[in-house]
Amino acid sequence: MAEHIIKFWGVRGSFPTPDRDKIEVGGHTSCVEIRTADNDLIVLDMGTGLVPLGNSLLQESNPPKSAHVFISHFHWDHIIGYLGFAPFFLKDFTCHIYGKQDKLSIDEIFGHLHNYTFWPVEIPMYQAELNLNTFPENGLKISDSVKISACKHGHPNGANSYRIELGNKSIVYSTDLEHPDDQLNPNVIDIARDADVLIMDAQFTDEQLPAHKGWGHSSWQQCAAVSKQANVKQLVLYHHSPANNDEAVREIEKDAQAVFPNTIAARQGMEIKLPI
Ligand SMILES: [Zn+2]
Ligand SMILES: [Zn+2]
Repeated sequence: MAEHIIKFWGVRGSFPTPDRDKIEVGGHTSCVEIRTADNDLIVLDMGTGLVPLGNSLLQESNPPKSAHVFISHFHWDHIIGYLGFAPFFLKDFTCHIYGKQDKLSIDEIFGHLHNYTFWPVEIPMYQAELNLNTFPENGLKISDSVKISACKHGHPNGANSYRIELGNKSIVYSTDLEHPDDQLNPNVIDIARDADVLIMDAQFTDEQLPAHKGWGHSSWQQCAAVSKQANVKQLVLYHHSPANNDEAVREIEKDAQAVFPNTIAARQGMEIKLPI
C-alpha cells in the first residue's frame, strides 16, 4: 500500500546526548525526514540527526535526486548536521534549503557556517547543487500534491512552524516554541488545525516553565492543549530536554497520554506511516 513515511533522525533539544541512560530516546538533535509516497524527500531541520540521514541516502538503491529542507530557525542544534551531510558530495543531487526570515540573509548565515576558522569545507567544494532560500511568505508548492506553509512563533530571534500538506494528509512541525504568557499562540493552533500528525516542542513541563521564561520552549501540557484545540489526530512530543533520561521521557509520555491519548514521544529511528 502506498504511504508517506515520517522518520525521526534526531529528537533531542539543545545538545546531543550520547549518554547511556538516553539511548532509547536517542541523542541526535532535531531532524525529521518525510518521504512521500512518490519518493519526494522533505527534511525538517538539520540537527546532528541529518548526518545519519545523509549516510543512509547513499545506501539506497533508488535515492531521491533532490531534497527540500525546511529550517525552523538557525540555532546550532537545528543546523550543525548540515556540515556532515554526505549527499553534498554527489554530482547528481540538488538540495533546496529554506530558512526563516532573519536579520541576516540566508547567504550570510551559511557564510558564517563555512567560515574557515570554524570549518575547512567551503560551498564550492560541493559536487551537489545547493539552493539557499528564505521561506516565501505565501508558502511553497513542491509538486501538485506537496504544499508547505509556515507561521512565525515565539523563540529567541524567532522561529517558524511548518505545515506540510501531502494530498489529503497533513503534518505540522512546530519546535522551539514559547507561547505568550497568558494563552496558547493562536497562529500555532491555526496552522495545526486538523493535522494528521503534530510534531511539537515538549522540552519542559508546566512546573518547569516559570523558571525558564524566555528560553523559548513549551511544555507537554501545552502540546496536549494545542492538540485538543486544533483537533489534531496524533501528537508527537519532540525536542526532548537534554536533561531527561529515557525514564523521564517515558514518564512525560505517559502523563501526556492521560490528557491526549493519541500521543507518542519521538524516539530516534521511529517511523510513522500515513497510508494514502
Ligand atoms: Zn532547539
Ligand atoms: Zn532554538
